[in-house]
Amino acid sequence: MVEQLSGGLVLVLVAGTTMRPGQAQGPHRPSLPPPVPTDPKTASLNKPTLAKVGDTPTYLITYLKREVYMSSEEILKEVAAEASICTKCDLYKSRTKAVPGEGNPHAKIMFIGEGPGFHEDKQGRPFVGPAGQFLEELLASINLKRADVFITNVVKCRPPGNRDPLPQEINACNEYLDRQIAAINPLIIVTLGRYSMVKFFGSEKISAIHGRARQVDGRMCIAMYHPAAGLHQQGLKDTIRADFKKIPLVIAEAERLAAEGKLKAEPPRPKEEPPEQLALF
Ligand code: SF4
Repeated sequence: MVEQLSGGLVLVLVAGTTMRPGQAQGPHRPSLPPPVPTDPKTASLNKPTLAKVGDTPTYLITYLKREVYMSSEEILKEVAAEASICTKCDLYKSRTKAVPGEGNPHAKIMFIGEGPGFHEDKQGRPFVGPAGQFLEELLASINLKRADVFITNVVKCRPPGNRDPLPQEINACNEYLDRQIAAINPLIIVTLGRYSMVKFFGSEKISAIHGRARQVDGRMCIAMYHPAAGLHQQGLKDTIRADFKKIPLVIAEAERLAAEGKLKAEPPRPKEEPPEQLALF
């Protein structure tokens, strides 16, 4: 279903994809059946098998059952601690610090980029380099601060030389991202760049869907160019600024839909293949 919102924003509603957590920290929690309790001591943590929203991997079910008893803050701390010593992909070999992400554990908006860069790797914080400065400018343009939102990446360790993350690295790290999303349960997810876009929008072209809101898995997702792309091309910088200006409208629409009970997780769709390697633009 497609809805035309005021301001020219097109809202595309499509079938959602993955299972939602049953926690109840936020005001926009989904109406899901309560998760089945399990003994955390006997919970087996299986390897992730996909990096694409599309079904509910076994490991996530396991975590959701266990983490239903934890607060968002506790889950995020746990994820950060695990990522800091993680060796699940080769990116651990060259990292200085893992960059799990930071921000409001109860944020309405979650920004998901691609991977840490040079400055992020040194500081262990996301978006602290030039792209981060642009992101802060963009947030300020809609009266938001970093502390209001949660910012993370699809991979938590810096790819050497700032190369693109490999599919196997994204898959290996996907578990952490899924657990962060489940913990925060944001009303809106903003994907920054192609790698996070693939998780929520599949194989669509970012040039075709940037700035559009789509209901995926009971929340609004908006695909945007990575701020770093705007640093390289002035035209894209203006496009990113214009796309950001749509966020308040999407927030208002998402809150309206949530209040009317129209933001709901949809039945899982068939599993799709993990993303192939993509270029930044
Ligand atoms: S990128 Fe993710 S999966 Fe790979 S070592 Fe770092 S935390 Fe682990």
